[in-house]
Amino acid sequence: MRRMRNPRKTNIATRKEGDRILGTIEGDPGGPTVVLVTGLHGNEFAGVEAAQNIFDMLDGIRPQINGRLIILRANLPALEHNVRYLDEDMNRLWFPSIIEKIRDTPEARIKSNERRQMKQLLPILDDIEERDDEPVVLADVHTFSAEGSMFSITSSDPRQRELLSNLYVPMVFGIEKSLRGTALGYYQNQGFISFGLEGGQHENELTEYNITASLLLLLHAVGAIEKQYVEKIKEYERHLKAHTRHLPVETELVYQHIIEPGDGFAMRPGYSNFQPIKKGEWLANDNEGKIIAQTDGYILMPLYQQQGNDGFFIIKENEG
Ligand SMILES: [Zn+2]
Repeated sequence: MRRMRNPRKTNIATRKEGDRILGTIEGDPGGPTVVLVTGLHGNEFAGVEAAQNIFDMLDGIRPQINGRLIILRANLPALEHNVRYLDEDMNRLWFPSIIEKIRDTPEARIKSNERRQMKQLLPILDDIEERDDEPVVLADVHTFSAEGSMFSITSSDPRQRELLSNLYVPMVFGIEKSLRGTALGYYQNQGFISFGLEGGQHENELTEYNITASLLLLLHAVGAIEKQYVEKIKEYERHLKAHTRHLPVETELVYQHIIEPGDGFAMRPGYSNFQPIKKGEWLANDNEGKIIAQTDGYILMPLYQQQGNDGFFIIKENEG
């Protein structure tokens, strides 16, 4: 489904070359660097729109922000076509070996759209370095095809855990290790505080608001904004607390259902994020027959779209 109801939004989604950097704000030098990566998957508009909201709120405000904010759009052609990707999943390519190959190959000789996009994106990210021991925080913003609550994909590193606890967004540990070749994994290895923000169902009206709220709380938590938007931050905090009150704060991945081409995978209808499931429950079908839950837990990201390699995940509340 194409989102055409708001012309402004359509413009954001389809603006062309030159708009890979959606916005940069240079504030007081003594502060963190926050990088928002949006649109790694081209059918995930709400993250682009939320990041634009954040830019509009903070651009030119006084007192200015501490540090700097850089907002990027990753996969421009896929955003134009409103598809997850054109040739290959851009969030499964961030292996050092592939990145070296991309760096060493002239752009005109790169056949895959997503690798050409990385060729253009990498130099921008290469330029971002830690300044004066201030952290670099990279939030990779996504949305998903099922209904249900937002969450973050993060390592259980204490620094990340502490920062993300200010967002009132449930944390899921372990996916960052099981999903190989993700941008967030790559930049975590580069020393950034790096996490995935899964903001909600692609088309749900609330998704953009939830992402905007959690990004502003992130900027507050990391010290980029202090006195600005105090009332707004309280409002967002109240909203996200209420939105996620019924959910476990920290969870851990216990099962990932990988789809291979030609599997004929089809999730049974009606599952949503954080829906409790029981061992033995009939979750999906493929050419081999029924797919049954291997364990109790909560279901996460059940796949209700054509493109994607993961059928669903099962998570459990973190015992510590
Ligand atoms: Zn995504």
